[in-house]
Amino acid sequence: SGDELKRRLTILGSTGSIGTSTLDVIERLGGRDRFEVAALTGNGNIPLLAAQARRMGAELAVTADGDRYGELKDALSGSGIEVAAGRTGLSEAAERDAGWVMAAIVGNAGLGPTLAAARRGADIALANKECLVSAGSLFIDAVAEGGGRLLPVDSEHNAIFQVLENDQRHAVERIVLTASGGPFRTKSLDEMQHVTAEAARAHPNWSMGLKISIDSASMFNKALEMIEARHLFNLRPDQIEVIVHPQSVVHSMVGYADGSVLAQLGCPDMRTAIGYALSYPRRCDLPVERLDFARLARLDFEAPDEVRFPALRLARRAMEEGGLQGAVLNGAKETALGAFIEGRVGFLDMAEIVEEVMNDLAGLPAATSMDDVFAADEQARQAAAGMIP
Ligand code: NAD
Ligand code: MG
Repeated sequence: SGDELKRRLTILGSTGSIGTSTLDVIERLGGRDRFEVAALTGNGNIPLLAAQARRMGAELAVTADGDRYGELKDALSGSGIEVAAGRTGLSEAAERDAGWVMAAIVGNAGLGPTLAAARRGADIALANKECLVSAGSLFIDAVAEGGGRLLPVDSEHNAIFQVLENDQRHAVERIVLTASGGPFRTKSLDEMQHVTAEAARAHPNWSMGLKISIDSASMFNKALEMIEARHLFNLRPDQIEVIVHPQSVVHSMVGYADGSVLAQLGCPDMRTAIGYALSYPRRCDLPVERLDFARLARLDFEAPDEVRFPALRLARRAMEEGGLQGAVLNGAKETALGAFIEGRVGFLDMAEIVEEVMNDLAGLPAATSMDDVFAADEQARQAAAGMIP
């Protein structure tokens, strides 16, 4: 009874920060009474993935780690839940007919499955910004050809999506992406030289996965978001501004030709953006903290410092050079980030490595297929690895 009203959905990366927040939103909006889960995917955390799958009565559970198949199979024995693993398992999850797919795998690993879901016409709730940074217009085209909607989940892009009226797109002059400035906003270059991954992951406002937290500290996260915004909203590089806003209350803004600036505000809680992407074009009730303006008292803004945060300059360069520089920037960045987490390079070395790789691989022509994107990503990773001791 009422089964026909249930919405069928899939979460790629259900065990991560965005994935668990998505399941929390689903739970609050009625859980299994209102939603049917086609597939959930995770990587290393098998107990969490199995618990999520049992709780939601998922049809299919997938671990990206091929070596963990047996472990997941055991954890789900007797449940009737199908189990798969590895790359083929991920595509199986993406291909399962679900009208709404949360793309919340971290990094370039999300590209293949997210594309597969887009091509078959699912609405894509996009948290995995790396898809757009690397594949750019190829990804946009895949969504358009599939016929599904692209619903931005990244808080800045979700904010812009909320205030960007379709029939006013012609009058958009600029978008302003807000950035918290991260834990090192007021640190000197000298101090930043010696910071650890532990210090870099401590974000002042948002609770997020490890990699995006460190990317926020280096502002590589904002760099990726500039490129993401360019493709999502079809803008020129010079229409994309970044402003540092330490309170993370204004999630981003759109400036129009008549001088109006529209902003979306809220407490820093990803569940608002996830709920919007799930309920669009309607809105849902969510028990997130409400803004208390009197207590907040003020909103601060400051220009970003591209000397201490060269990632912003590199993003602008990638946008201007076009071609495969987005894929190159991201591939090099992911490799440098991995090395920083392992303590093999310093915090400031990350941007230096990315810049050198961009120099080396400058002039790659625009991608004509996803193979070109994967090849550029791989080339960038190898070039970056060659610069790491
Ligand atoms: P996370 O590290 O917490 O979770 C990542 C998910 O991907 C997990 O389910 C993990 O098991 C899975 N995964 C990891 N490696 C994988 C691989 N090789 N193959 C397949 N699956 C793999 O990350 P997160 O913070 O939830 O971020 C997810 C995505 O959302 C990222 O692209 C991030 O940039 C974006 N995003 C996150 C936030 C946030 O608040 N956390 C905000 C905006 C955008
Ligand atoms: Mg963001």
